[in-house]
Amino acid sequence: MPPKTMKAMMLDRPGTELHLREIAVPEPGRHQVLIEVLACGVCRTDLHVVDGDLTEPKLPIIPGHEIVGTVVATGMDVTGLAPGARVGVPWLGHTCGACPYCRTQRENLCDAPGFTGYQIDGGYADYAVADADYCFPLPADGDAAKQAPLMCAGLIGYRSYRMAGEAKRLGIYGFGAAAHILAQLAVHQGREVHAFTRSGDRMAQEFAAELGCVWAGSSEEEPPVPLDAAIIFAPVGSLVPAALKAVVKGGTVVCAGIHMSDIPQFPYSILWEERVVRSVANLTRRDGHEFLELAAKAPIETEIRRYPLANANRALADLRSGAITGAAVLIP
Ligand SMILES: [Zn+2]
Ligand SMILES: [Zn+2]
Repeated sequence: MPPKTMKAMMLDRPGTELHLREIAVPEPGRHQVLIEVLACGVCRTDLHVVDGDLTEPKLPIIPGHEIVGTVVATGMDVTGLAPGARVGVPWLGHTCGACPYCRTQRENLCDAPGFTGYQIDGGYADYAVADADYCFPLPADGDAAKQAPLMCAGLIGYRSYRMAGEAKRLGIYGFGAAAHILAQLAVHQGREVHAFTRSGDRMAQEFAAELGCVWAGSSEEEPPVPLDAAIIFAPVGSLVPAALKAVVKGGTVVCAGIHMSDIPQFPYSILWEERVVRSVANLTRRDGHEFLELAAKAPIETEIRRYPLANANRALADLRSGAITGAAVLIP
């Protein structure tokens, strides 16, 4: 039996710090499971929630949508999961199943979604509830902390990678959690990965080289060869024209973040010749199943820094300042 109360890091108001609270352990609804959180990754989107860049949070909210944990109780209508199972909980926490997007295999664009750690309490806590249909089964013998970044950085990164098409020469702008996972998959699949980091970030550039990237430099630099496609993970709008200049005719630039600063005006000539700029929103469950299968085969090894749950504010600050190589993960 789970305890009656738990520790959680809660956001009362955007623009303020999270507070450690002792609150009741939630009860799973009919379609939900109660999960004992083993680890929860800290994603850049959490920063956008905490800062108020995303304007529709439930408040107060427990952030965190890269949850890995053990099912400890199930709602009465749950059939696919039983206590003891290791699961991952992603950003996509719920969809309506009835809107035009849900009915055409585009549940990532659902008109009435619920997102984990935004509208649904997330994983910066000892326990969390999640809709069983949106949980991903994970191998129980893996290191939960290393699995956590796969749940968003990996998964939404993978959707962005899919949207970049068959690119042989792939550029990645912003070499954080998502990039370090995607680079491994792309290198494994025989692609040439070019990594663009914050100006002069030698540590990130060396890390990219270690992971098999053929070139690593600053975002202001031009790559040594034209790229077939580029993915922008950094929330920096000025990277869009930079990436457009770096891709070949017909090349695609994918904006992978949920929030980005304004894109500066640019001449039509850099978009001309069928270059494409597109965004990627959220994930579908199909993306998740596909990616987790590929990640297990590649295999992908995540680089993480562990923080105790109570140090969530510190983890967010380190992510903001770029002081983390790889991904930050909270351990309850
Ligand atoms: Zn829908
Ligand atoms: Zn995320």
